[in-house]
Amino acid sequence: MSTIPRRKFIQLSAVAAAGCLVQGGREARADDLPHLTSDDPMAQAMKYTDDASSVDAASRNNPAADQSCATCALVVGTEGDWRPCQIFPGKSVSASGWCSVWAPKA
Ligand code: SF4
Repeated sequence: MSTIPRRKFIQLSAVAAAGCLVQGGREARADDLPHLTSDDPMAQAMKYTDDASSVDAASRNNPAADQSCATCALVVGTEGDWRPCQIFPGKSVSASGWCSVWAPKA
């Protein structure tokens, strides 16, 4: 079972709900989406980087060892270097990236 702190869970839920409204039920394709950049205000709020290896493991909320967008429950799809993410609607994230709401796949 995931151990996401309550505050982070609430933050994650609000962002995910906003993403559902923006997506409007359409299937996002990574090829159609601009890449998320670390200077995006939302990316900064979530401490997104497109290089997960640059993140100090001690600073992460979740202690799991293998953390990247490719291993996150919130990424959409399993193919490609850039993929849609439920947290960042309208953008694609690097499969090698990471942000502070990373959660393990079930
Ligand atoms: Fe999205 Fe997960 Fe990557 Fe964060 S770690 S940007 S939630 S796929």
